[in-house]
Amino acid sequence: MAKLINKNVRARFAPSPTGRLHVGGARTALFNWLFARQNGGKFILRIEDTDIVRSTKDFSQSVIKDLKWLGLDWDEGPDIGGNYGPYFQSRRIEIYKNYASALLKKRKAYFCYCTLEELEQRKKKMHEKGMLPKYNCRCRNLTLGERKEFEREGRSPTVRFRVSGEGAIYVEDLLRGKVSFETKMLGDFIILKSNGTPTFNFANVIDDALMKMTHVIRGDDHLSNTPRQVLLYEALSFKIPQYAHIPMILGRDGTKLSKRHGATSIADYREKGYLPWTMINYLALLGWSTQESQQFFNQEELIRSFSLERVGKSATVFDPRKLEWMNGEYIRKLKPNQLVDLLIPYLRRENWVTKRIDPLTRKKILKVTELEQERVKVLSQITNLADFFFKSDFEYDRTSVEKRLKKDYVPPLLKKMRKRIAGLSLFNEKNLERLIRDLASEFSLSPGEAFHPLRVALTGKMKGPGLFELAVLLGKNEVLRRIDRAVEMLKKQRNKGGGSASGRPRDSGSRSGGSNPPPPANFFGRE
Ligand code: GLU
Repeated sequence: MAKLINKNVRARFAPSPTGRLHVGGARTALFNWLFARQNGGKFILRIEDTDIVRSTKDFSQSVIKDLKWLGLDWDEGPDIGGNYGPYFQSRRIEIYKNYASALLKKRKAYFCYCTLEELEQRKKKMHEKGMLPKYNCRCRNLTLGERKEFEREGRSPTVRFRVSGEGAIYVEDLLRGKVSFETKMLGDFIILKSNGTPTFNFANVIDDALMKMTHVIRGDDHLSNTPRQVLLYEALSFKIPQYAHIPMILGRDGTKLSKRHGATSIADYREKGYLPWTMINYLALLGWSTQESQQFFNQEELIRSFSLERVGKSATVFDPRKLEWMNGEYIRKLKPNQLVDLLIPYLRRENWVTKRIDPLTRKKILKVTELEQERVKVLSQITNLADFFFKSDFEYDRTSVEKRLKKDYVPPLLKKMRKRIAGLSLFNEKNLERLIRDLASEFSLSPGEAFHPLRVALTGKMKGPGLFELAVLLGKNEVLRRIDRAVEMLKKQRNKGGGSASGRPRDSGSRSGGSNPPPPANFFGRE
């Protein structure tokens, strides 16, 4: 079914830079972006930084960086400008003041001299009496003399919007239909704080109107702000945009997604090694789905298929396991050479590769990548999965040692293996496999019973890429050294009475005065 296209669409993302961009914010940005892009309209970024206490420049920059990383490009915004700038609210203070003056002149707003303490006290009292805590309108009709008196007391006023009228205020929402709010629940609300900065509702309305937004797609935690905003639009004779309040994101325990649920910032996910498109694809499915429940989309498909009508009303659950699974799927789709580029920063972080990577090393990393691509779900996992490719003093996994090496037949088997491998004239996968299989039958073992100990000796783990492939990549001498190391570790553990299986030779026995030099950073294939 062809969708109606509206090139006049102007949608925006309006983050408050009081923290890093989190999953919820990114999903809001994405829905606006998708909506603008599928209509061939405009997507605008506006930074709502009027909360001077909580907003910081660094957070603004980090939000911009994260949006760019996600690939959500904007047509107008703080860094690129546009016809309706500035796009930082902190640079628009005069505009808000002018509109506040206009409302004051029309008596749609008034100066309020109540202090925070007074307001708090009244609120408490109302609460105690079981009343709805709203402003009691003390300053609604002050005379000039009363105002002067307050000013003499040193009070600096806020500007309050006069909520008048009875009955209901209606919010038209594209997802929820007509939502009504009782006017009497609202109470006169502040639009300009005593320091001259606007409140969220006021600045948000003025900017959406002046920036000619046609649509406001945002989290439904803002739904309760909307009646006040509607009143402001009406008072200022601005056109009300189309609203779509999208459902909240919950953690798996059913509570609002927060830091308690682990990583929630986009930067955290980037650092862990999630691909930007995984994030986009996954976030798109938080509250939206196609009729066919399609899971994977490329950019073009997503822009084409997205529709506000299919965004649900009920809260949606953020499932980190699904996100990880999806990332693994996308990693598998990468060309190994692309994956190498993405993995290198993680290897560098461990000092396993140097800053400059020579072609030979790159070739080796490519081989490691090809061997591990199936298993990596998040880029940073490479350091656990592939440590043994980059350092010979890797730690043995305790369970693997217990299960695979602590058997009587293992030390003699490994010793024999070592001898035979040393004698191999051509160290390749085929010959190595044949050698181990032969040894297994000589020892009356199943092939697995011979393969497993070798794997733990070479990698410290029970699981990993193809044993013979990885052995060949390590090189013959390294394989021999690792067999020696495993045999030695087992001997030490036996001498100690089979105690700890921490398996780190350098930790488990006598330290020989530091005569155990660390291996070169990039040892593999050095023969
Ligand atoms: N600055 C608001 C926020 O970050 C924006 C709300 C809106 O999109 O209108 O929640």
